[in-house]
Amino acid sequence: MENLENAIAAIKKELPGLKLLENEPLKNHCSFRIGGPARVIAAPQDMTSLSKICCILKEHELAPFLLGNGSNILFPDEGLSELFIVSTEKLQKLFLLPDGAIYAEAGVSLAKLAGFAQQHGLKGLEFASGIPGTVGGGLRMNAGAYGGELKDVVESVVTLYVPDQAMYELTNEQCGFGYRMSRFQKTGGFVLLSAVFRLEPGDRDEIAAKMRELNEKRREKQPLDLPSAGSAFKRPEGHFAAALIDEAGLKGYRVGGAQVSEKHAGFVVNTGDATSHDVYDLLMYVRNTVYKNTGVAMEPEIIVMAPDYKLEDHGPSVPRNRISEGMIGE
Ligand SMILES: Cc1cc2nc3c(=O)[nH]c(=O)nc-3n(C[C@H](O)[C@H](O)[C@H](O)COP(=O)(O)OP(=O)(O)OC[C@H]3O[C@@H](n4cnc5c(N)ncnc54)[C@H](O)[C@@H]3O)c2cc1C
Repeated sequence: MENLENAIAAIKKELPGLKLLENEPLKNHCSFRIGGPARVIAAPQDMTSLSKICCILKEHELAPFLLGNGSNILFPDEGLSELFIVSTEKLQKLFLLPDGAIYAEAGVSLAKLAGFAQQHGLKGLEFASGIPGTVGGGLRMNAGAYGGELKDVVESVVTLYVPDQAMYELTNEQCGFGYRMSRFQKTGGFVLLSAVFRLEPGDRDEIAAKMRELNEKRREKQPLDLPSAGSAFKRPEGHFAAALIDEAGLKGYRVGGAQVSEKHAGFVVNTGDATSHDVYDLLMYVRNTVYKNTGVAMEPEIIVMAPDYKLEDHGPSVPRNRISEGMIGE
């Protein structure tokens, strides 16, 4: 705690123009609309000030917690008093590279990225247009829908690796993407700064029509009128989480203000006054009931943060073995 207060003081001194929100309700920064006060949220203007923040935090033996659109996180009602949160909301550069690939900074929304690709007659990101996350959050989760995943279109990712304060460009293979998985989850310490997306040329109208079709499907099937964090559980191998939950008779099941959506059993929604404890208890109840019924252990897709959340919980301890050509070892 003392380290954090000293780091905040140092950051205020060295970056006087930086927007810092103190004791800010986290419910204003996530799609679930749940969460008590964060000690501090900084929104750096550019990568240079983000790197500077990381550097000062490191001097105080701290690391940042990166926040995109907060569309995959359950924040605790008690708040987060021990973390320095860095929002990527101002990292918004998005442009076409001379070779036709797209460059996007971490804070660009996936909807904006998909729209940009469509405007330039590039296909392959239609699946992402309805995912309410950012490039940074999407890369960490390898976000996907309707048969597409970011891993299919990412060429490379630029990351700041906090332990050695150096930037690396990782190829798609080096990102270790899998189903809702990346090496950035397995290993802590990666701040995702930007990515290059390689797409195929396509017809603008056809791309737009595909995006409309997929978004219509979403509106039809998903409870988009209520706050949530998307699919509550990952798809267990050989099964569909929503079907398992539905078969267990849990559609509409409530704990306090949290409810298994009546429209789509794979979603847990905040009906208005849900606490993080309601959501957590409901997630555990659903998981245990499905396990008792079927023997299938479902893993939450939502990132559940406890009040004493430690960055170590965010991935195993960071490796230090730097290998040749400036890349990071496994
Ligand atoms: C209605 C709804 C529908 C959804 N549909 C889908 C779907 O179809 N497919 C799907 O995959 N997901 C879906 N989601 C979940 C969510 O939108 C995705 O997981 C998305 O990729 C999260 O992005 P974000 O920017 O909101 O990340 P956040 O929720 O802000 O963060 C998620 C994780 O990424 C980390 N992170 C964020 N930015 C960075 C960065 N720059 N560097 C390092 N780490 C970072 C955070 O620390 C956190 O661990 C849905 C959510 C909702 C609410």
